[in-house]
Amino acid sequence: MVLGICLMLPVMTAVTEASLITPYSGMKPDKESTAADKPAMTVAANSSNSSKENSKAGVAETEPASYVIRVGLNTGVARADASMSTAYRIINPANGKVVAELEANELAQISADLSGLAVNGASAGCDEVRLVPARKNDGLVSFNNTKYHGTLVFRRSGSYINVINEVDLDDYLKGVVPSEMNQAWPAEALKAQSVAARTFALYSRNQHISDGYDVCNTIHCQYYEGLKGEADTATAAVLETKGYVMTKDTRPICAAFHSSSGGMTENSENVWGRYQPYLRSVADDDSESPYHDWRVTASANEIEKMLVSAGYRIGPLKSINMDPGKKGRSESGRVVEVLFKGTDGTAIVDGVKLRSIFGLKSTMFSIRVQRSAVNSKESLANSRNGKSMPTAASSLQLTGAEGELVILEGHGFGHGLGMAQYGAKAMADKGAKWQDILNHYYTDIVISKYY
Ligand SMILES: [Zn+2]
Repeated sequence: MVLGICLMLPVMTAVTEASLITPYSGMKPDKESTAADKPAMTVAANSSNSSKENSKAGVAETEPASYVIRVGLNTGVARADASMSTAYRIINPANGKVVAELEANELAQISADLSGLAVNGASAGCDEVRLVPARKNDGLVSFNNTKYHGTLVFRRSGSYINVINEVDLDDYLKGVVPSEMNQAWPAEALKAQSVAARTFALYSRNQHISDGYDVCNTIHCQYYEGLKGEADTATAAVLETKGYVMTKDTRPICAAFHSSSGGMTENSENVWGRYQPYLRSVADDDSESPYHDWRVTASANEIEKMLVSAGYRIGPLKSINMDPGKKGRSESGRVVEVLFKGTDGTAIVDGVKLRSIFGLKSTMFSIRVQRSAVNSKESLANSRNGKSMPTAASSLQLTGAEGELVILEGHGFGHGLGMAQYGAKAMADKGAKWQDILNHYYTDIVISKYY
């Protein structure tokens, strides 16, 4: 989650930058002020103990014992092949009428035109169909050769189909957590990740309501590929933390997380422009992260081209000023804005946008200009000795000389908000519990059994 609206960053590794949904972006559910309302997801009240548990958590007694989340798997397809591992029916949920009866693993082809849906070529006479088991309530559904818990819903949109997986929230998380954190990492880190992912899913409910589901299955919300993505260690972490959610004023928080902090996480207003009381800058141990130190090297010409591609036509680069407005760096040491001066004009670019334009791992970086191999060796030595945050460079002049390079050196990977996964691992390695990890990264939150 990082552009002024939903900024799509490149998917980097299995350990991803979570939450491309910003708390106050245009992709946010319409009514921010009603985010405390009860979750609008389909409710599956299946536990007589739920009221008691939820009362303890300070949640209304009508809260359910579990949630069903609607995950968009594919939008805008003309045909979809689906099946179920047990004998099943395809029904019209509006009236319960059976549209088709199928055997276990028998493929059903759902298609759409402007008049409605069809199943195996026969008109269904409706705009939405759903798979249900013919007998007992078991079996896995399959779509595009991928198996999912829960069921599948096919909804017509024009002459196309939106495919939706309606699935128990914790079954959903089993498929999400291993794609967000290495399954071989310590159990307490995986549990912290599970609670962060659960909280973020609840926060994101109705994110895609206009398409008829809560969350999509990409990094925009959280990456999800059903059973294909599951891992035993992550499943155990999800189940052992079942129902636990982080809240602020009884509302699930925007539980942003990222890969590597560089040693200090960031305040939300420095990335998303708005203050969130629970997304505050905290120090952590990032020393074991493979992204703790990184470097990007580019010629002045390459810098100019990247700026042009982002709409900044300033001509050949003459100088770079790391602090043109005398704003300094953010509290955590991240770049606020940089001024690029060219022969034809100037551009002031904020750190978050610069990260996107240059494909940087984070906004915690410094810039220097290297003019010769001799200077390079000297600068590198200095860099290795420096343990502190990058310091702002003064205005850097470019001469246009052959071999001149702009070197960006930084720390960390991701937007820097909320839990840093490598820091969570470092805490778990030293014996911290998942609650300790979450309380470290999310300020003044309540961790409680939400369902
Ligand atoms: Zn999404």
